[in-house]
Amino acid sequence: MQIYKVGGAVRDRLLGKPVTDIDWVVVGATSEEMLAKGFRPVGADFPVFLHPKSGEEYALARTERKSGRGYGGFTFHASPEVTLEEDLIRRDLTINAMAEDDQQNLTDPYHGRRDLEARLLRHVSPAFAEDPLRVLRVARFAARYAALGFTVAPETMALMRQLSESGELQALTAERSWKEISRALMEDQPQVFIEVLRACDALKVLMPEVDALFGVPQPEAHHPEIDTGLHTLSVLEQSALHKQPLTVRWACLLHDLGKGLTPEEDWPRHIAHEHKGLQLIKAVNERFKAPKDCQELALLVGEYHTHGHRALELKPSTLLELLQSFDVYRRPQRFEEFIAACEMDARGRKGLEQRNYPQADYLRGAATAARSVAVQPLLEKGFKGPELGEAIKRERLKALKAYKEAASV
Ligand code: ATP
Ligand code: MG
Repeated sequence: MQIYKVGGAVRDRLLGKPVTDIDWVVVGATSEEMLAKGFRPVGADFPVFLHPKSGEEYALARTERKSGRGYGGFTFHASPEVTLEEDLIRRDLTINAMAEDDQQNLTDPYHGRRDLEARLLRHVSPAFAEDPLRVLRVARFAARYAALGFTVAPETMALMRQLSESGELQALTAERSWKEISRALMEDQPQVFIEVLRACDALKVLMPEVDALFGVPQPEAHHPEIDTGLHTLSVLEQSALHKQPLTVRWACLLHDLGKGLTPEEDWPRHIAHEHKGLQLIKAVNERFKAPKDCQELALLVGEYHTHGHRALELKPSTLLELLQSFDVYRRPQRFEEFIAACEMDARGRKGLEQRNYPQADYLRGAATAARSVAVQPLLEKGFKGPELGEAIKRERLKALKAYKEAASV
């Protein structure tokens, strides 16, 4: 049997990027031979094995054919006769379809190296269209390598557009889509992921709520970029520049969805968009089965981001309600993430990227003030049950009044 390094490991070594996980392909072997060498099978009837020591993935060379809708509709054929070239042709992009032996000899039948040099994301063969997930994968690689100057080849973009229009994207499972979306959001330029999806008409299939924001104006005084879609892209860009976690990036993407519902005659104002957007945020959350912390933060940021911006003007009672809504006493981290998302929203505006956001420290201070109310003295005074709750709230309100007064001198 011959063993080759394939896919991302080869690509990233040639790009001079750190290689994190290595995928291997094994040519000329049977499953029985792999098992005899101590490899552990990944699934009952899938020709992929884990190395007994390194745990890295070793796949038998295989060919694939589409046999129905979605990813379940794939049949594969693995046997010792399948060649390296036959295995490589089923892969998505030419830059992902190179192999290397232990002497670093490159096998590159589809000219991945040339495309690496030309900074092009190009599909390997027309079979690209057999798996709609590849639309998301290409958009994700575009986000990852945008800084290096990579773009999607026009003929690949045309295929992606065809896939978007075919209705195949709807057949993707939430799990497969979310894996790509979440990885794309964590790239250095997540806004490029959304831009590429939009350019091939996939955005209006996958997230019509986000797509609808393009062309919707906002007041120029607060939003020099005017367009709500462009604003959303900038907020996402800021979230990556500031190394925010996935929860915050997801909330940034969805925070303004309500603006897509504003009747044109009300433009450029968006009255109560925070509240109107909640049903849309919920729909997107559920469509992709986003993790609970992402779902929660997106809804909270959607509902309260304007409160964040107006923090210094909020009455102490409103501040208290805000802190209660976040359960900041038990979930301080979530409130920190809310503050971060608000700050990204404020900076994701043309020409305002470097602005100060004093609201952030003000909100942190308010949380500290409310959290510093001690329960023990109230217990000692004999409060219990619902009365204790009321007493705690009163004390927190007092603390916030004092905090606001002290902050305004
Ligand atoms: P990453 O750095 O994100 O891990 P990668 O290229 O290694 O990038 P993987 O998802 O680990 O990506 O997949 C390994 C290889 O398998 C890819 O390089 C590609 O050749 C192939 N591959 C993975 N998923 C698909 C797919 N849906 N369609 C076609 N080829 C795929
Ligand atoms: Mg990989």
